[in-house]
Amino acid sequence: MAQWCEHCDRPVEGDVCEVCGADVTPEAREPIPWRWRFFIVATVLYLIWRIYQLVSWLSH
Ligand SMILES: [Zn+2]
Repeated sequence: MAQWCEHCDRPVEGDVCEVCGADVTPEAREPIPWRWRFFIVATVLYLIWRIYQLVSWLSH
């Protein structure tokens, strides 16, 4: 069963596009990409840091 490359807009035989090298494995194998988890964690850490700065600024 052929996959589909979103970048080249063409069918791809296998898991990697021969034209652009993109990974075209079905998304069902990985419901939540690891980079999204990293992005969420980074956002939460950033918000915690900003709140800490705000509290620190208000207490002085
Ligand atoms: Zn491609």
